[in-house]
Amino acid sequence: MGIKVVKFGGSSVADGIQITKIGDIIKADPERRYVIVSAPGKRFDGDNKITDLLYSCREQMSQNLPIDQLFQVVCDRFTAIKLNLGLKIDLQKEFDIILDHLQSGVSADYVASRGEYLNAKIIAEYLGFDFVDSAEVIKFSEHGKFQNKETNAALSAELAKHKYAVIPGFFGSRPDGKVKTFSRGGSDVTGSLVARAVSASVYENWTDVSGFLQADPRIVENAKPIHTITYKELRELSYMGASVLHESAVFPVKGAKIPINIRNTNCPEDPGTMITDQPSEESKNRVITGIAGHKNFKVITIYKDLLNDEIGFLRRLSAILEDLKIEIEHMPTGIDTVSVVVASNNIDDKLDDVLDEIERRLQPDSVDVFDDIALIATVGIGMSFRPGVSAKLFTALAEEHINIRMIDQGSSEMNIIIGVNNKDFEHAIKVIYDAFEGKGKELKAHFS
Ligand code: ASP
Repeated sequence: MGIKVVKFGGSSVADGIQITKIGDIIKADPERRYVIVSAPGKRFDGDNKITDLLYSCREQMSQNLPIDQLFQVVCDRFTAIKLNLGLKIDLQKEFDIILDHLQSGVSADYVASRGEYLNAKIIAEYLGFDFVDSAEVIKFSEHGKFQNKETNAALSAELAKHKYAVIPGFFGSRPDGKVKTFSRGGSDVTGSLVARAVSASVYENWTDVSGFLQADPRIVENAKPIHTITYKELRELSYMGASVLHESAVFPVKGAKIPINIRNTNCPEDPGTMITDQPSEESKNRVITGIAGHKNFKVITIYKDLLNDEIGFLRRLSAILEDLKIEIEHMPTGIDTVSVVVASNNIDDKLDDVLDEIERRLQPDSVDVFDDIALIATVGIGMSFRPGVSAKLFTALAEEHINIRMIDQGSSEMNIIIGVNNKDFEHAIKVIYDAFEGKGKELKAHFS
């Protein structure tokens, strides 16, 4: 029998009703043995996430403001969950400990982590599973660096002692026992680490959407769901704005070749999206997997005759941006031209410095700056098996009179990135989608 690791995000464990749903999902399959939970998230638009409330408590405390009312809101949320589920767990004892720590000026990481901690305690009791404290098994160094090997060893050793367990997401501890959290959304990472440690057959990540769609449904109405996608394709799409999973959650399971299945707690019958190491038959047969993008880039294009012959030109260009601490998104090159693409908000106040340094260090023939550029990535492992994909994409855009300002095809041959004017962004995505997919029928998940 395989082992399934299941992680439930904040909206899946936001209140008693949601927790009943996750209980049904877990009990429906005895292979679902290790459960990772987030803190209760929003129950409705405008509601507060417990993690945000906890950060606010810590913030108010550090400014010597009273926190009683705010902390009571947190306690009330957990008490309501306990009562709705008909549990006997002694939460008051836990609340007193947290309040004591808060009053003695404990770290923000500790306070924030208590949302996951309390929720995991409650859910363990509800399911009749063991509770395993992440502070004992997720390891960080003294300076807060995540310790991969130590964590894997500690997790495998501890979980071997528990057939069924609930583990709070989002945090671990330093060697002195002090709590350290991952970045926001980090329960996804905990789930991935647990999946690797127990050699799970699948890492199910349950959220409030049924996986990925081929395009943002706010732009492409009825965009089709993606049933299978490779880790590599996902990485390209996430980088360009499609996000369901924490970025770092992919690496532990990817190395161990464990698939991730994104599922919807509110529609458990949906198969969701399966993320795998190797392309499925479906992905090979499909020309494009998805389209994603971002607005607001600047493109600096440098022209210089015989640029190709100048050894070290690209290195000196990257050094200018590195020295000014500006991240480069892309660097497409032509025969006598090279462009650097940067997010506008990373360069706006440094643009003059960049241009001065380009002039001084590279002596270009001329330099152009294009503003308000949007990047659109069309991703698909199937592209590498087929000729004519770019031709189709460019023809479709030309027929709609969309001006392409920049082209960059990744060397993986599964990604064509184009730059268009910000104002053409949505239109271009629709045109590309229609060129390859026509009109979709289903709308069950979305890019967030
Ligand atoms: N509760 C944390 C957050 O809101 C971590 C998580 O949910 O994954 O960021």
